[in-house]
Amino acid sequence: SEHHQTEQGEASSLRTPIVAVLGHVDHGKTSLLDQIRGSAVSEGEAGAITQHIGSTAVPLDVISGIAGDLVDPDDFDLPGLLFIDTPGHHSFSTLRSRGGALADIAILVVDVNDGFQPQTHEAVDILKRTSTPFVVAANKIDTVPGWNPEEGRPSKLAIEAQSDRVQSDLNENLYEIIGQLSDEDFSADMYWRVQNFQSNIGVVPVSAETGEGIPDLLTVLMGLSQRYMKEEMAIDVDGPAAGTVLEVTDTQGFGATIDAVIYDGTIREDDQIVVGGQAGPIVTDVRALLQPRPLSEIRSDDEFEKVDEVVAAQGVKVAAPDLDDAMAGAPVRVVRDRPIEEVVAEVKAELEDIQVSTEEE
Ligand code: GDP
Repeated sequence: SEHHQTEQGEASSLRTPIVAVLGHVDHGKTSLLDQIRGSAVSEGEAGAITQHIGSTAVPLDVISGIAGDLVDPDDFDLPGLLFIDTPGHHSFSTLRSRGGALADIAILVVDVNDGFQPQTHEAVDILKRTSTPFVVAANKIDTVPGWNPEEGRPSKLAIEAQSDRVQSDLNENLYEIIGQLSDEDFSADMYWRVQNFQSNIGVVPVSAETGEGIPDLLTVLMGLSQRYMKEEMAIDVDGPAAGTVLEVTDTQGFGATIDAVIYDGTIREDDQIVVGGQAGPIVTDVRALLQPRPLSEIRSDDEFEKVDEVVAAQGVKVAAPDLDDAMAGAPVRVVRDRPIEEVVAEVKAELEDIQVSTEEE
């Protein structure tokens, strides 16, 4: 990532855009995430992708390796993509807070044979309400009768290599989905015909089974972020962290801990933090920041390793006293050199906002 000093003397940097996967049950959200992780692992040497708590970071050079000719790393200065590991729009909806988005962009997964289903409509409603830019992954293209699979190939090329019959069957299903998006007031088209991804939704045919279309999907996500989200991704890396609680968990040796996604600034081992709880803001001190220990290094039953600091955007497990009452979807804020009342008021305002949006549903 590129670092430079701003006029105010703050170290600013471009963070990784956060990507969420939404869609109807069984349409392939989990498989798609697995396929993206799998492609990334086989692309680079071990360590190329980083498994954080609740999320997976895929760096730009790995994306460009998977995407081949589609992505020239010199065209990008965003450091890669961070995928939230828990798919589904219910988590997306409850985890979306006011001050910061849980996700900057989303993948709406639609089974190409099934088209829009009730939870697809629900997901679209949430994406509309939160103004989250998204792409549609038209999944399971390998199930079209007669499909000739070629592992990991860009789907535009994979489709051109199929028989006329297969192409026309697939197209019929794809245009059905484009029509359903249009019924939802979105102008959509096959991604290779979309010029402006801000006003048009790109539909990317994929197979989470064969990996076909993964290069195209990553290219579109990267392009979309680079073009339209660069300004939002500029953060003060050294500033006090802001994040969202994904889950409240019990961690052996630490008691109640929170799994959070940090989307701004840095959280350090000795920081004071304010976390949203059932009964209001919780003020506490970080006892440990934990990340999953790489599988190769597990010798004892220590599943996690301590880290000194975590810079946005990343997932992290935070151990601190008094977290039993913390809430999924609530904000996490590092206090650092700000007046504590100010940070508490910020968290309180966000909590009220979450309550309101939950009641609306
Ligand atoms: P989720 O509920 O949306 O997370 O869906 P899953 O990822 O669990 O997938 C549901 C089922 O569809 C599983 O049996 C997957 O193996 C299967 N599946 C998912 N994607 C594909 C695909 O692209 N092609 C084929 N043939 N099967 C798929």
